[in-house]
Amino acid sequence: MSVPEQHLSTLVAEQRRRGLSSLRFTRFVEEQFRRRYAEINLPKVRPLLMLAAFGICVSTALGIARHSVSATTAIFDIAVMLPLLTATLVASYQTERQFLYQPLLAVSMLCIGLIISSISLRASLHGTPYFFAAIVAWIFMVWLSVGLLFWYAAGTAIAISVTYAWGLVHWSFGHQESVFAGFMLLSVNSIGALCCFQLESTTRTAYRDKCILEDLAERDGLTGLYNRRAYNGYMERIWRQSRREQNQLTVMLVDIDHFKAYNDLYGHQAGDDALKRVAQVIAMGAQRPLDFAARIGGEEFALVLYGPASEYGRDLPGLIRQRVAELAIPHAESSTGPVLTASVGVAIVTPDAERSLAGAVQMADEALYQAKEEGRNRVVVKESRLTHIQTGRFRAHRQRQHAG
Ligand code: GH3
Ligand code: MG
Ligand code: MG
Repeated sequence: MSVPEQHLSTLVAEQRRRGLSSLRFTRFVEEQFRRRYAEINLPKVRPLLMLAAFGICVSTALGIARHSVSATTAIFDIAVMLPLLTATLVASYQTERQFLYQPLLAVSMLCIGLIISSISLRASLHGTPYFFAAIVAWIFMVWLSVGLLFWYAAGTAIAISVTYAWGLVHWSFGHQESVFAGFMLLSVNSIGALCCFQLESTTRTAYRDKCILEDLAERDGLTGLYNRRAYNGYMERIWRQSRREQNQLTVMLVDIDHFKAYNDLYGHQAGDDALKRVAQVIAMGAQRPLDFAARIGGEEFALVLYGPASEYGRDLPGLIRQRVAELAIPHAESSTGPVLTASVGVAIVTPDAERSLAGAVQMADEALYQAKEEGRNRVVVKESRLTHIQTGRFRAHRQRQHAG
């Protein structure tokens, strides 16, 4: 997909640069991918795990009742297999423990494979070699049917195959039978590995392209900043988070001054170029992972900082105003100066039960309105502990003043 890099989030852009050769994404994308990959496969894996646990319970109980299982086998089934299958099932339900799911699933598949190997070898020793088909089927399952990632599937299938081959040698099976079993194991593993590798590569490519598309849907086509839709979603998420963690939010609204006049004088193309340059200044303000920069209207931008208003956070609005002026984009029709300038309205809020997200945004909006009213090219800051928020009150009051 040929999309300009500045229009993608850092994570997705980095991922695209690195390519897919090693069947592994960068850390955060990998975590998300594994969660998604597990979700796709869980509907068929969970019943399988439950069935395996049920089968082990029944066969062990029957074996004990008929005295046909050894004490070691019974202990292995009850003390190893059942807890292992239960742990894998539990991990499959816990999204925060997804990193455990693949290793646990691989070990579960390996243990079941070893049990089938042992049954198959014993049956062959007693003259019924047909159980070998179960081993072949199980190795196919490991490679293709339970959603194991390639390297986990490889480790599991090879361990089962090697154990089976060791059994053939250990119990001195006939030459013909050993060669046949070896050839079958080699074939089934080669086909399984090839298909598993291709399946995972294709799934990873599709996932990466989906990330790129989702990322693009949240971006503004002109500036590469996040768009209004992404801003709305982000604000709702970050508002909930800051309420939970009792953390401050700094909402900055930046609006270019006299931009209509700029467009009228220099043309729409020059206007677009100016917007891109101002957007770069805004983007520089979003330094930390939870900070957010968006273009929320024609010539209006939002920059949101999460966390206690530090000295940097308090200086930033002034710095942005200054940097926009320092771009030195000539604006002959501006009453604020010879260059393009911007006004900044800032709301510093600590969310609590009495405050709404709409009220916080309104406060930043009113600060911006005040900056415009007081002559533009300036910053106005409002803090929630100093300002009584009453949605719409400020503007209505101003409008009444104007009317008067
Ligand atoms: P103020 O100082 O009060 O903010 O005045 P203003 O002229 O900047 O504000 P107004 O809302 O009257 O005009 C905004 C202008 O922004 C109108 C439109 O020509 C311009 N604009 C909006 N979107 C784009 C865009 O994508 N590209 C360009 N070139 N101009 C745009
Ligand atoms: Mg404007
Ligand atoms: Mg505007």
